[in-house]
Amino acid sequence: MTSTTDDAPVLLRTSGLAKHFGIRRGAGDRFRREPGQVLRAVDGVSIEVRQGQTLGVVGETGSGKSTLGRLILRLEKPTSGEVYFEDENIHQASRTRSRQLRQRIQIILQDPYSTLNPYRSVGASIEEVLAVHGTTSAAERAAEAKRLLGKVGFPSELIDQRPDQLSGGGRQRVSIARALAVNPRLIVADEPVSALDVSVQAQVLNLFEELRRDLGLTYLFITHDLAVVRRLSDRIAVLYLGRVVEEAATTELFSRPLHPYSKALLDAAPELHARKTSRRAALGGDMPNPISPPSGCVFHPRCPQVMDICRREVPRSIQPLANRTVACHLHSGPPAIN
Ligand code: SF4
Repeated sequence: MTSTTDDAPVLLRTSGLAKHFGIRRGAGDRFRREPGQVLRAVDGVSIEVRQGQTLGVVGETGSGKSTLGRLILRLEKPTSGEVYFEDENIHQASRTRSRQLRQRIQIILQDPYSTLNPYRSVGASIEEVLAVHGTTSAAERAAEAKRLLGKVGFPSELIDQRPDQLSGGGRQRVSIARALAVNPRLIVADEPVSALDVSVQAQVLNLFEELRRDLGLTYLFITHDLAVVRRLSDRIAVLYLGRVVEEAATTELFSRPLHPYSKALLDAAPELHARKTSRRAALGGDMPNPISPPSGCVFHPRCPQVMDICRREVPRSIQPLANRTVACHLHSGPPAIN
């Protein structure tokens, strides 16, 4: 996808953003967590999203992408670092300003059940949001709910149905309409099509694209699915163990990935290649324990191009080419500006 928004103002920016969770009691999972240990879910992430752009954030389970989304939505407090929305540090906003920011930044989740009231009809659940945000007239709320549902392609004859009477795609359309009800500028979409059938996925992705074009929305699109981010994103940030290892325009990342992890992800995406390769085989092992990450480059135990320096030194994020960053000892260039 060629971006026409590279010169647009930056809407969202994170700088050295980190979220570390203290382990209070052993969770007994495969990582053998012990009390007192620290899980570095997000570990120094610096990204920016320009107005009208879609930044895809891609990585395996455990890469920290959902925690990153929660930090941007202020559902988590950062351990360190900042999140700026329109140049304002949102974690330092006053209570009044926080309420305004909640309108400006909306979330769409994989499972719309968690945001929809199971006892309310589709129309009522949209009207509820409109009432909270100041539309006082019942007639206006009903008309606006209808308009919003039409905008997301939801059949008007189903407006009185409850969430459990709808298909997965129908529920996702309703959750998108609810998000639109408050006129947001930024939408954080966390795996919004992962639970849908492939044909429905395509329809909902088309809808995201149409809404961006028509309403000038900006998206942070979090997913494990490279085919999805390729279709929708102007730029992609590849996350591994809480860190951005590469960030580039979508076309550049897919035509010439620089980081060995990005290459392995592309090789492991069967829908992008004629020859099917399992992700496990392509990546050569599992994600390491995030509580005791490997020394040096955290990807080194799985990297086919590992060198001695990789085990000792953390690679800095650099800019080997204009408008793209990578954190890998194979590449050289000026430090990325964070
Ligand atoms: Fe591989 Fe070394 Fe680059 Fe890490 S720094 S991705 S181990 S080559």
